[in-house]
Amino acid sequence: MTSTICPKCGNNTSILLSGICKECFFENFVLAQLPQVLQAKICATCGARFTRGRWTDEYDVESVVLKTIEDSLSIHEAAEDIEICINPRQLTPHMYKAEVEVVARIQGEPVSSELSTEIRILRESCEMCSRMSGGYFEGIIQIRAAERIPSEDELDACMRIVNLTIDRMRDKGDRLAFITDTIKSKEGLDLYIGSVNSGRHICKAITEEIGGTFSESPSLFGQKDGKEIYRITFSMRLPRFTPGDIIAIGNRKIVVKHMGKKLTGTNLMDSSRFIATEEETVQAKQVGHIRDTVDAVVVSEEENELMILDPFTFRTVNVKKPIGFSPVEDGEIPVIRIEETLFILPPEWRTNKI
Ligand SMILES: [Zn+2]
Ligand SMILES: [Zn+2]
Repeated sequence: MTSTICPKCGNNTSILLSGICKECFFENFVLAQLPQVLQAKICATCGARFTRGRWTDEYDVESVVLKTIEDSLSIHEAAEDIEICINPRQLTPHMYKAEVEVVARIQGEPVSSELSTEIRILRESCEMCSRMSGGYFEGIIQIRAAERIPSEDELDACMRIVNLTIDRMRDKGDRLAFITDTIKSKEGLDLYIGSVNSGRHICKAITEEIGGTFSESPSLFGQKDGKEIYRITFSMRLPRFTPGDIIAIGNRKIVVKHMGKKLTGTNLMDSSRFIATEEETVQAKQVGHIRDTVDAVVVSEEENELMILDPFTFRTVNVKKPIGFSPVEDGEIPVIRIEETLFILPPEWRTNKI
């Protein structure tokens, strides 16, 4: 190893750190620095932390304290293998003290530093909480159903989707994804929403899962300081037919799978897939529901046909085997009677019961 002369003290040295010998380098070396007093701004209601000009969700005060310290701690740029140990103690609800130990290596040499700081907690109301408490909303989602009243179960299903969507948006940082008010009426449900963006996501999520359509339109909601205030109304229409409904379209009987802009389902005649446009479903009528399925005894099985005992008339009837029909297991098959005709329940609906 070659030996050089330290430009600062003139001693012989084999290692140079930042151009000077080890002794000179560590003489004035500071591994870590931390202000003696730090401030942490949190929301008194939801616990969010205000940092870099915006509010972000947090779990508890302690994690805010830890993050505030981490953000304020500056460590020498030459340090490697850094380990930080923070030990916060709550003194009052408004004040924490913390001991901070930093262990690292500088060019292989172990170095450490012990620091302490005081964290003052400022409690305010974040923009989300102040808007929520003030009843702020940017839009209304009106959940209705086409040509019928939505059922309690459907509205519960909608609310489950609404809450999941809001959680997902909040996780992504949209703090205005919230519901200020929920008003139930005879026709359905009105949701007052914190942001137009969250309203749109909610409507999309509902139509994807349950079906139906939605449209949005601005409406005048009054005046403030001489300015007109607009709010967006999302008109959500749950589908006219829901999964499991059996409808008649022309002379076809269809089990509804999903109804959005188009209707998809299964043709009861042969279990083939069915798809119809909005116009084609205008004349459709509900004629039954797969929950009315009953089991029928199979008398004999041919290659393409089954002879079954009609559970309503107790007469034997021949029915065509539907597409994808699997052999009869215990001598019975689920059937459904629509307008005097017996149909075998399509195989996909056996496991997919509503
Ligand atoms: Zn030196
Ligand atoms: Zn808050």
